[in-house]
Amino acid sequence: MANVKTGIFWNNIFKGSNWPIIGDKFIHFPEVLSEVLKFDNVVLYESPKAPPDILYQVHSENLVKSFLSSWYAEGGLYTIGGFMSALEKIWTNEITNALNFMVAVGHHAGKTSAWGGTYASLTGPGIKNLRNKFPDKNFRFAIIDTDSHHADGTRDMFLGDHDVLHVCFCDENLAEDENTKFCVDVGWRTSDDAYLDKVEKNFILKVKDFKPDIIIHVLGHDTHYDDYGSRGLSEEFFLKLVKKVNKCAMELCKGRYLITSMGGDNIKVADYIFPEIVKILSGRG
Ligand SMILES: [Zn+2]
Ligand SMILES: [Zn+2]
Repeated sequence: MANVKTGIFWNNIFKGSNWPIIGDKFIHFPEVLSEVLKFDNVVLYESPKAPPDILYQVHSENLVKSFLSSWYAEGGLYTIGGFMSALEKIWTNEITNALNFMVAVGHHAGKTSAWGGTYASLTGPGIKNLRNKFPDKNFRFAIIDTDSHHADGTRDMFLGDHDVLHVCFCDENLAEDENTKFCVDVGWRTSDDAYLDKVEKNFILKVKDFKPDIIIHVLGHDTHYDDYGSRGLSEEFFLKLVKKVNKCAMELCKGRYLITSMGGDNIKVADYIFPEIVKILSGRG
C-alpha cells in the first residue's frame, strides 16, 4: 500500500449537540483520533460548509426549505461539504481514501422526502457536485450501505441512474433498475462471518463487473449488538468489513474509497472503530 494518503473530514460543530437519532456520539472526537493523526499519511481536514445551492439541484424546493429552517441544518451542511470535498480530493488524487463524519443527513433522504434522523441527502449532493466539476467524465459510483436500515432515500435518489450501483444490506432480497440496485436480507440476528459472506457474494463479486471509479461506503454501526439497530455484530466486524472493501477498492479503482459514518449511537463503539478504520485506510490495519 505504498503512497496511500488518507483524509479525515471532521468539523467541531459535530460534537456537543444532541443530533437526531445518533445523539452526541462524537463527544470524544477528534481527541480519540490523536494517535492516528500522528501518521504522516493521514490528514485531518476541517469539513467546509456546503452551499445550499447544491441541495436544490437534487431535492425538491420544499424539502430544502424545511431542512434549512431546522436547528440541525448547520451540522448537516458541514457534513455534506466534507463529503463533497472528500470525493473531489479522492478524484484529483490529493488523497487516496477518506473517512467522513456525518450528522443530520444521510440515507433516508430521497428527492422529495426525508426522515429517520437524515433530513437531506449526502450521496446525492456529493455525486452531483463531482459530476458538475468534471462534466466530461462519465463517472461510475458503487455505493455499499451496511447501516442496519434500508437506504430508501439513497435508492430513490439514484433510481434510473445506471452509473450508480447501490447495494443495500437490510431486510429483504431484491434486485431492480436493470440490476444496478440491490437489497440483501442480512437476517434479524446474524454473525460477523455470515454477514461478511453476504458482502463478498453480493457486493465484492458484483462490483468487479460494474467497474466503479470510486467506492462509497455508508457504514453505520447501529448493527452492533449493543446499538439501536442491533443485528448481533461485534466491533471487530466493522474492521473486517472495511478491510474487505478497501482491498476491493485497491484492486478495482486505485484505492478510491470514501467511508461515511451514518447510524449508530453507541459512543464506545464509535470511539473504538473509527481510529481503527483510519489505520486500515492508511495501510496499517
Ligand atoms: Zn440505521
Ligand atoms: Zn435495502
